[in-house]
Amino acid sequence: MRFRIQHLQWLGGIVAAAACVALGGLSLQTNFADHARFQRGTEQLARFHSVLVAAHAISAERGPANGAMGGAEEKQPMLTAALASKRAETDSRIAAMEASFAGERGRFAEIDALQSDMLSRLAAGRRAVDAVIALPSVERSGTPIRTAIEAMFAAADASATLRDRLGREIVAGTPQVATHVLLNSIAGNLREETGRLGSYVVMQLSADPDQRRRLEVQFVATRARLELMWRALASYAGAVLPDIGVDEAITAVERDYFATALPYAESVIRETSLGTAPDADAFTRVYVPGMRPVELLRERIATTSRATMEALRHQALMLALASLLLTAVAIGAIVVIAVIFRDGLFHPLLHAHRQIVQIARGDLSDPPPIRNISAEVRTMFASLDLLREQQRQRLQLEEDQRLMSEALRHLSETDMLTGLLNRRALTEAAERALYESDRHGAPVSAILFDIDHFKAINDGHGHAVGDLVLKTIAHSLRAVAGADVAFARHGGEEFLILLADAPKDAAIALAERLRLAIEAMTVDTMPGLRVTSSFGVATRTAGAMMSWEELVARADRRLYRAKQEGRNRVCGSDEQPAAPRAATAETTWFPQMAKAAR
Ligand code: GH3
Ligand code: MG
Ligand code: MG
Repeated sequence: MRFRIQHLQWLGGIVAAAACVALGGLSLQTNFADHARFQRGTEQLARFHSVLVAAHAISAERGPANGAMGGAEEKQPMLTAALASKRAETDSRIAAMEASFAGERGRFAEIDALQSDMLSRLAAGRRAVDAVIALPSVERSGTPIRTAIEAMFAAADASATLRDRLGREIVAGTPQVATHVLLNSIAGNLREETGRLGSYVVMQLSADPDQRRRLEVQFVATRARLELMWRALASYAGAVLPDIGVDEAITAVERDYFATALPYAESVIRETSLGTAPDADAFTRVYVPGMRPVELLRERIATTSRATMEALRHQALMLALASLLLTAVAIGAIVVIAVIFRDGLFHPLLHAHRQIVQIARGDLSDPPPIRNISAEVRTMFASLDLLREQQRQRLQLEEDQRLMSEALRHLSETDMLTGLLNRRALTEAAERALYESDRHGAPVSAILFDIDHFKAINDGHGHAVGDLVLKTIAHSLRAVAGADVAFARHGGEEFLILLADAPKDAAIALAERLRLAIEAMTVDTMPGLRVTSSFGVATRTAGAMMSWEELVARADRRLYRAKQEGRNRVCGSDEQPAAPRAATAETTWFPQMAKAAR
């Protein structure tokens, strides 16, 4: 059996657990999705970084290229060697970039295309530079140099396009790093523009006077772009990337580039018109170190961005694990609560209910002990034990009362000396017998007998022997009379027997058997004592107008006749003389019984 409330509790528990699983699952799914997104973002950022490094290498290659193209004749072998080593470095950066894209090939056709475009433009730029270097230094006019530098610009532009395309890809996947990507792009552009500014100076140094004006305009425009980008980067990089390294890098750029290298480039531009300008190599050697902090800043921003992305990924993983753990804890708590309710409340209630039903049915046996219950519940069971005990006592009391009233009834109906019915009890039995006799048409008989010369027994042997005789008669005649007759002490040494369904002959026959039994009876402690009795028998036929008292009175009259006619005999009629007893001293002839005896 289960309580309805317990079903409800289980249902509630299941619903709550399901809700926990749903909530936890939702949170888990979100956080795992975030984790996957940040994981992918970290990988993309690494690729983005490899593109930034390659783009920088392509830009940086312009420095030695410019030097080699515009340097003095005698320095040519050294400058060419420096360019070759720079190109080898660029190639290794590009190889690293390609390696970082190895798993992504074919995934974004557009990015693949941009990458090939960048490589072909770089190859074209290098061919143009080599073509200029192959010329004798006197033939290296401004136009081929400018063409070569612009071809290298095209390679740098292609790398910037690839970088920006990849940046867009990353921002779409993980908008959280949009500002980082943006700062990385600006830093990359800044690096590129500082390089270009230097290149315009180099071009100016070898340019024909008619081209100088146009190059000066490009120089001024580049410087304006540089200042715009720098304002944005210097304002926001420190705020977005709270990293001391970024702040230091910004200060270094301000000091080494904007306060030193840039004014130097401007002064060189001015000097070209005066004819006092240094050659391209000398300019490059002073200008390029001023660009170094710009590259360091770009590097720093890239590293910090990757660290931020990594932190986000880690946080998502931790949140996913936390939601897993919290869901497990919540479900565990629900299960524990359900078990506590079951063991601490519902099981004891069930036990208590069973016990109450048992008590109500009257089963007061001790119930099996219940273990592991709380103090409150134990009090409840103690109350039930008390109730059971009270119930036991009440039943015991009822049983005692029943026994007592049974004993009282027995006492009120019993003759104390002989244990036979008393006169009153027999009269009640007789009333019922007469009623039944009238209903069923059965005759009712009464046998009344009196001990002969009992006074003499009392007088001769003592009252106690008299009592013993009365008891012996009661005991031995009970067996002779049978269980279905009512046998009473009528008073003194007189006994009365009620035969509820016996005709006259049967009653007389029984009286005769009783008489013989008394005659043959021996009394304990008095082996020689002989006792006889005289009997009066009367029968009432069914429906006769005769009361029990009248029937007994008739039997009494016949008993009196039996006494008169010599005692120790049965008298069953008013007309005939009582049957004599041949063997005894006082005998009266009773032909019917004599015949029966023979
Ligand atoms: P009869 O043959 O005419 O009946 O002679 P009887 O001596 O038996 O007659 P009676 O009626 O004169 O005597 C009855 C005696 O029975 C008197 C009384 O003392 C005695 N008796 C009556 N009740 C008891 C009893 O409970 N115990 C004893 N021991 N004697 C009793
Ligand atoms: Mg007598
Ligand atoms: Mg008497």
